[in-house]
Amino acid sequence: MYFECINCNTSVDPHISMSICDDCSYPLTIRNNDAALMSKTLKIVTLGEGGSKLISLTKASQLIGVSKIYAKLENSNPTGSFKDRGSAIMISAIKSAGINTIVEDSSGNAGASVAAYSAVAGITSHIFIPENAPKAKIDQISIYGAKIHKIPGHRDNAEKEAKQFALDRNFLYASHNINPFFLEGTKSFSREVAMELGSNLPDHIVIPVGNGSLLISTYLLLNELWQSGSLNKLPKLYAIQSEAVKPIVSQVHGISWSVTQKKNTCADGIASTNPPRMRQILDAIRETKGDSVSVTEDSIIKYRNLIAEQEGIFMEPTSAVSFAGLESLVHNKRIKSSDSVLIPITGSGLKSIV
Ligand SMILES: [Zn+2]
Repeated sequence: MYFECINCNTSVDPHISMSICDDCSYPLTIRNNDAALMSKTLKIVTLGEGGSKLISLTKASQLIGVSKIYAKLENSNPTGSFKDRGSAIMISAIKSAGINTIVEDSSGNAGASVAAYSAVAGITSHIFIPENAPKAKIDQISIYGAKIHKIPGHRDNAEKEAKQFALDRNFLYASHNINPFFLEGTKSFSREVAMELGSNLPDHIVIPVGNGSLLISTYLLLNELWQSGSLNKLPKLYAIQSEAVKPIVSQVHGISWSVTQKKNTCADGIASTNPPRMRQILDAIRETKGDSVSVTEDSIIKYRNLIAEQEGIFMEPTSAVSFAGLESLVHNKRIKSSDSVLIPITGSGLKSIV
């Protein structure tokens, strides 16, 4: 196993304190990892994450006009979001290195997840979060016993403050957005999809994307299987964003957009203006011939409510972004009525009620 910088094609020996490339500062990625070996060499910290159910949404597929929609119920993870897959491996690596204090910044779900895994591992976690994050997410982080730092202004301020705090005190900055172990941990999502669906993989996977860990890890894992001949197709990957915060859509379509145009959004989990792994996000979309589209606040709330009313699934608005995006992709004929789609229900509705 080694760390690779995909930006300048260099590789280094893995080290827990290293998340970004020394030469170009791009976040590092784990290569050549044996997941089974990793679980033997690390002191594994687990809360029973993963193994989420995959179900078919028959009413939603008829309403939106596709042949099949699979939903993978990531809201059933221990802290209510897919982030637990990444936190389990990241905190296991940190615990194995004997580190006892970490600093993280988050819009909410990753903070709650890192707080929970730190709690069980006996690690002190300082979580920096925007002060306007949903109250349920802030409360969840506090109840796990993390030291919470509420930072005024937009999401990026929390990141800046967290980095400085860690630097000043010589604490490990364990950001889920750049940590290679976190990204590696989220691969179990698509590994489960590949194992369960086998030769019936969906044509498209539609993901709400802020900093892109789920999109990137899905691409890395599925592409690895595809290149080795283990899959009969490589699903197209889509990054869906809100109209209010759309740096990825703007990059994919060459539309000018800057942080000054950022507006408030109910999709708080993906309100990231400057994803540090942008290059990998763009690679995943381009290499799978996918796309990136943005959706309105009204359409997000429409699908949050509709999927609850029709399918009995209560998700946070950030997760409903995928359904609004799917409607748009079907309307624009990027996805055909005969196609099948997989959507991760990334987070529980109880985390953010608007
Ligand atoms: Zn580099």
